[in-house]
Amino acid sequence: MDGYDAIVIGAGNGGLTASAALAQKGLKVLLLERHNIPGGCATSFCRGRFEFEVALHQLSGMGTPEKPGPLRMMLGNLGILDQLELVEMPELYQVIMPDGFKIGFKPEKEQVVSELKARFPQERQAIDTFFDLVYAYAQQMLAAFFFKDPEPTREKYPVMYAYAFKTAAEVLDELFTDPLLKAVISVYWGYVGLPPDRLAFPYLAMIFFTYIEFKPFHIKGGSQALSNVIAHTFLSHGGAIRFNCGVKRIMVEKGAIQGVETQDGERIRARFVVSNASQVSTYVGLMDPEQVPDPVHREMRGRSLSPSAFTLFAGFDCEPDALGFTQPTSFLLRDLDVSDRVLSRMEALPIGNQPMVLSCYDVADPDFSPPGTCQANIVTLKYGRTWLKVPPEAYHRVKFQCAEEMLQRVEEIYPRVRGHIEELEIATPMTHMRYLGHPEGAIYGYEQYTKDSMFFQPGRHSPIQGLYFASGWVGDCGFHPTLQAGLTAAKSIVRTLERE
Ligand SMILES: Cc1cc2nc3c(=O)[nH]c(=O)nc-3n(C[C@H](O)[C@H](O)[C@H](O)COP(=O)(O)OP(=O)(O)OC[C@H]3O[C@@H](n4cnc5c(N)ncnc54)[C@H](O)[C@@H]3O)c2cc1C
Repeated sequence: MDGYDAIVIGAGNGGLTASAALAQKGLKVLLLERHNIPGGCATSFCRGRFEFEVALHQLSGMGTPEKPGPLRMMLGNLGILDQLELVEMPELYQVIMPDGFKIGFKPEKEQVVSELKARFPQERQAIDTFFDLVYAYAQQMLAAFFFKDPEPTREKYPVMYAYAFKTAAEVLDELFTDPLLKAVISVYWGYVGLPPDRLAFPYLAMIFFTYIEFKPFHIKGGSQALSNVIAHTFLSHGGAIRFNCGVKRIMVEKGAIQGVETQDGERIRARFVVSNASQVSTYVGLMDPEQVPDPVHREMRGRSLSPSAFTLFAGFDCEPDALGFTQPTSFLLRDLDVSDRVLSRMEALPIGNQPMVLSCYDVADPDFSPPGTCQANIVTLKYGRTWLKVPPEAYHRVKFQCAEEMLQRVEEIYPRVRGHIEELEIATPMTHMRYLGHPEGAIYGYEQYTKDSMFFQPGRHSPIQGLYFASGWVGDCGFHPTLQAGLTAAKSIVRTLERE
């Protein structure tokens, strides 16, 4: 056959692992990426003497060599583990408020529980109950789904069945009375994009469980190092990559994939296409409407887009301790509202009282930035649709106003930061839209409402023969799930070929 066995659209996590796994199996694979480097979100960019991490705050699912987690095993199977230098983060997170409140946790269950009990003695019993519930839920989920129990009955997994469709807020309200405790325990909602009133409890439980049991990690060289290693592995197995090469159209005939057309108008034939682009752009932007079956449109209409992000990337001319950065991951809260009202704040342009997460990688990895310097990545979630309404002539003014507001919020807690800024870059939802190509710059795919949670995700398979998806749009978002999504898509293709 001329052309390729498979074309992969997009070199984000899912696209990279799908490409590498298919090439490892001997398929002829072409990876097309519209940007000039691999990674998608898993990337970095340089300003002055700093290389800024774009996305990765905490890598989940890694585990230690003695107690490997699923991600460590997956990277081992891909043959790239020994090419990465992993940095274990000694702290889980801290919550810090301008009124002086501060609490921090190590990634140890007993330490988290005892720290919380010391701060909230009136809720001692409920704190034990909550973490027992988190562990029971996570262990039953893993047994039923990760280890693929063929008969996952209610009798075998009572906690999973009882809590699968509860929101995080329902569980927190059932157990706790102190709003400060509820806010401290639920800050990880920012990693999924929905406040506790809407967030499915399973996400909060799984996030706590995986970060505590498998520890939060970072990578020397940032997430770009991981993307580069996977790209090199793909090339070493005979794969081909073209950067600055967006796909304009997926060619379909009689319900089956024929290949793709690039933005330069070149038509390249392939029997399989794996899309790492969003499901929305794949079906709506890259395919002729008559080729897309009605059920696909109906399915997509029932979902909503996750928020995007507003981020400050700051490079400082001093070490972290000179600024008061003592922990790698800090959630900065100004109020305790974790209700639905948070959603309307995410719709608004001003930063206001929104929670923010500040990551200073140099705390866990002193070599992350050049000697005598450090960097911080400060993020808050914002919906892209509001930014789309900003007129082009006002864009820079609005962007700098929001950045100034964010910086003032940081200064409330770390008053010395402004005087030490050497480089400052700002990313808005428009930036994510531009670099990822996702609708409204959504960084977490579709919103993971309980009705759209891990139990009801759209499939990686498409009714179009030969089309597969590998991204955070067809499963959970995050590094571990999207890296896994690529391997799952590759496995499905290999199985199809083996059956023939
Ligand atoms: C600010 C931020 C912080 C985050 N923090 C964390 C964290 O701490 N821990 C964690 O686990 N996860 C985190 N995430 C989430 C994680 O980064 C993402 O879920 C994951 O990287 C998404 O991978 P993906 O495979 O879906 O591809 P994406 O990263 O979405 O990449 C898609 C790729 O497809 C390309 N593409 C799109 N259309 C086309 C086309 N037509 N032709 C060619 N190429 C195309 C794009 O250019 C892009 O390279 C964060 C994300 C962001 C943005």
